[in-house]
Amino acid sequence: MGGHLTSKKYLIHNLISVQDNFLKIPLQGRLNQAQKQEGVAEASPRQYGPRASAISKMMKEFSSPQDIIQNIQERYLEKSGVTSTLLGEIATDNGPCPFIRLKRKSGIGLPKILLSAGIHGDEPAGPHAVMSLLQKISDGTIILPKVNLDIFPLINPSGFLRRTRTNQQGKDLNRCFSTGHPPKEIRLMMDYLKNREYDLSVEFHEDIDTKGFYLYEHQPVDMAGSRTRAWGAEITTLLRKQGFPINESPVIEGMPAVDGVISPRRKRRSFFRRHGWPQAFYMHKHGTKRTLTLETPPCLSLEDRTKMHIEVFLFALKKLSGDAT
Ligand SMILES: [Zn+2]
Repeated sequence: MGGHLTSKKYLIHNLISVQDNFLKIPLQGRLNQAQKQEGVAEASPRQYGPRASAISKMMKEFSSPQDIIQNIQERYLEKSGVTSTLLGEIATDNGPCPFIRLKRKSGIGLPKILLSAGIHGDEPAGPHAVMSLLQKISDGTIILPKVNLDIFPLINPSGFLRRTRTNQQGKDLNRCFSTGHPPKEIRLMMDYLKNREYDLSVEFHEDIDTKGFYLYEHQPVDMAGSRTRAWGAEITTLLRKQGFPINESPVIEGMPAVDGVISPRRKRRSFFRRHGWPQAFYMHKHGTKRTLTLETPPCLSLEDRTKMHIEVFLFALKKLSGDAT
């Protein structure tokens, strides 16, 4: 089942350097630059919506999923103290792609965190954010607090390669966590996750229909059974302060939302029984104390969306390590 990939040599470097250049430009500069690239002159950041041309251009910035995974492996893992395990191979149009889990283990008794990305193949910012995060950990830009961190960087390589939400068999993998015979990607994940309870699970997603960031938060339940404080409002406040747009609609995806935060309630269970369990529901049912599902707006540049994911993840890490002390 396991196997280390560390001996392989890889060649893809372009993605990282493109991203680096963007991250050095202040936000407004990045927005203006993105608008220029999309041919939108003098528009405010909130005025331009998703465009097919911009989205396809963004997608072209990616190489194959193998390259992304291999790039992570080659450039960052050893330096950042992360080991990888090959869980299996997933068939794609371009042949088999390694399905890997990355692990950064710091010690017993530390907060346990799961970070996962790319379950929907047409949401590139998540895998990109994982890659950027590892880069920053390895070069010392980001110092992780002491946590046990498991990462699934790209859950749906066949969809990623084909730029589809579903996998190669047309399955929405984020609705397959309740079936007896899930697709291979989810079976590999569930085999790993079934007896593990995490303090926090963070999922990186994107939503083509939103013009601002929003998130789902399953709040934790403490020992006395009462809800402890949610983080969602602090997260959207933090992003807004940095100039990122927040989806302020009172209803998002058919659910009540407050300042970009959806807190799914019990009645969602009947919905999931009909449509299949998403990962967050599975995690919650199996003892994960808090889940955050982040949704970034594809109308912003890939770099901004990547940054939003990373900012929120680091905020959550800080909260969790603060809570633990
Ligand atoms: Zn998604």
